[in-house]
Parts: sequence; C-alpha cells; structure tokens
Amino acid sequence: MGTKRQLAILGSTGSIGTQALQVVAEHADLFEIYALTAHRNVDLLIEQARRFSPEAVVIADESLYPKLKEALSDKPIKTYAGSEAIAQIVEAQPIDMVLTAMMGYAGLYPTIRAIKAGKAIALANKETLVVAGELITRLAYEHRVPIIPVDSEHSAIFQCLAGENNNAIDKIILTASGGPFRTLSAEALRHVTKNEALKHPNWKMGAKITIDSASMMNKGFEVIEAQWLFNVAPEQIEVVVHPQSIVHSMVQFQDGAIKAQLGLPNMKLPIQYAFSYPHRLPSADPKPRMEDYMTLTFERPDTERFPLLGYAYDAMRRGGNMPCIMNAANEIVVDAFLHDRIAFTDMPRLIARAMEQVAFVASPTYDDYVATDHETRCLTREWI
Ligand code: MN
Repeated sequence: MGTKRQLAILGSTGSIGTQALQVVAEHADLFEIYALTAHRNVDLLIEQARRFSPEAVVIADESLYPKLKEALSDKPIKTYAGSEAIAQIVEAQPIDMVLTAMMGYAGLYPTIRAIKAGKAIALANKETLVVAGELITRLAYEHRVPIIPVDSEHSAIFQCLAGENNNAIDKIILTASGGPFRTLSAEALRHVTKNEALKHPNWKMGAKITIDSASMMNKGFEVIEAQWLFNVAPEQIEVVVHPQSIVHSMVQFQDGAIKAQLGLPNMKLPIQYAFSYPHRLPSADPKPRMEDYMTLTFERPDTERFPLLGYAYDAMRRGGNMPCIMNAANEIVVDAFLHDRIAFTDMPRLIARAMEQVAFVASPTYDDYVATDHETRCLTREWI
C-alpha cells in the first residue's frame, strides 16, 4: 500500500466505531480518517474529530449541529448534519473504504450510496444485508465493489475461504455463544430482566446487539447475512452453540474438511482484517494461548426456548420483504424491552405477529423495503 487508505467510519462513537479508531491509531502509517459520522453522541464525535483530523464529520441528529460546528470552528474540518449528509459524505472522491458501523435499518441507505459511488464496504451493520441482501449484493456486483465482513463470525468464514479460490462450500457452521440465558428454562426466560440480558458472558457490545444476542435474534440475522455474503442456500448454514466464543465460525468443504478461525473475543481483529485485506497486520492485543482453552464445547441450539433463530430461517426461506419485516419488528420490540415496556418472551411473540400480518412482497424494490419497514414499525408499536 503506497498512499494511506482513506476511511469513512459511519457510527464512529459506537462500540465498533471506537475500536476501529483504535486500529487506525495503531496503524497510522497505513490508514487515515476522511470522515466520521455519529447518531447523537456529539461530545465523543468532537473529541474524535480533534484527535483524528478528518476532512468532514456528520452528526445525524440535526439539533446537535450548532454544538458540533462551534466546537470545531478552530479546525479545518467540515461539519454537517442529517441523514442525507451522511449519504452524501460517503461518496466523496478520496474515500477508499466505508465502515458501516451504525445501528439497525439506518445503515441501509448510506450503504447503497457508498456502493453506487464505488467504495469498498467494511460491513459491520448486519441489518443492511438482513433487510435488503438481494439488492445490496446485486448492486455490489454491478459496481464491482467488495463487501468485506466485520461481523466476527463472517470474518472468520471469510478468513477460512482465503486461498480456496472457487472451491465449493459444502456448509457454513456459524458459532453462537448462546448468550447469558443459554441454560435457562422456558419458564425462567419469562422473568429475565433488561439488566440480566445486557450482561453478555463473552462480548462487550452495544445495548441493541447485546439484547439480540440474548434472544438469539442476532444469530438469526447472521444466518441471513451469511446467505448473502457467501452465496449459499439456507440448508447449507448451520448454527452450533459454542459457549467459549473462541472458534469464531467454520467452513466445511466438499471433501469433508472443516476450516475454523480461532481467536479471543475481540472485534479489533475482524475490523483490522477488513481494513488491511488481503494482508494481515501486527497486533499488540493479547493473543490466544491454546493451553488456556483446553475445553472447547459445541451443542445444538434450542429453537424452542429461542424461537427467533427459527423465525430467521423461516424469513430467509420465504425471502422477499420477510426478513425486512422481522428486522423492523425486532428494532421496535428490543427498544420496548430496553424501556421495560414488554417482557423478554413478548419479543418473539410480537415479531411472529408482524411476520404474519404485514403484507408480503415477493420481489421488493428499495421503495418496498422503505414502506415495509415503516408499516411494520407502526403496527408493532400499536401492539405494545
Ligand atoms: Mn457476530
């Protein structure tokens, strides 16, 4: 790499965004920040801008713009606000790669704009592929844009596929930690609290994805994400519960061989690999020692207690706008659960209702996705 790789980080103040900036700081000879965007955390965005001196920063919440502009008025940094500004900034000519690390459905539109502008995508926003995987993968193909996964499981699979050229995948084996409620009975799950759900045993992440991990919705999303990233059929994707979170995922080939990628639960490695692919860079972070992990266990997931994993397979097989419906309902119910308005076990019940009642569209356009998302959110809010 001759000149420094220019990066745009969407969602720079979140868990992935802040770790991405650590990677950039550790490899300042290779990477440079062109743009940072955040939803609402304007204080941290200002701090990051002063430290990394990007060309531009964008705050999604327009009411926070005066504060952003004022705080950076002594710096040659352009400041913008609003979701359209985020979609515009990713098109800036010098940007080589866009890391999509914002939360939820909001990631879809700027990702489409970045692909159309020919930017390589480091994909951390899995909802983009859950909602509109067909559209996104088609656009990426048409614009010859690589989508490099940042999700740890998909990064593991991507790493397993390096050097395999076109050897056919027999099966993708996604590992799941099982979350904090892995061993709880169906009855006990009815009474779990928000704070219990927010205590993930292995990974430190944002609140929304931590709840999705506890419900196994996250693993369901990852199954759909894998379908699009690796062009495999639903029956080629298997989930195994692996409570130690050391094997990040596996690929089985036609000859029966299984390749796995192992590591500590640390998102900096998949982020760094996406930034530097196909090269590997040094890391000063703790490295796994096999003698510390003498016992690695694997078990079948229980879709009776964790129905959302099964619903995700249903949505994937049904296709069309069904995964979009599931995602929109999930964003509403997770928010309601985080505000103590519904029980943990109400989440799958409400999502199932949305999947039954919202109008099915077999071949959705972008506008259909927008309409489905809106309709599902309105209906699900009414039921809460
Ligand atoms: Mn993951």
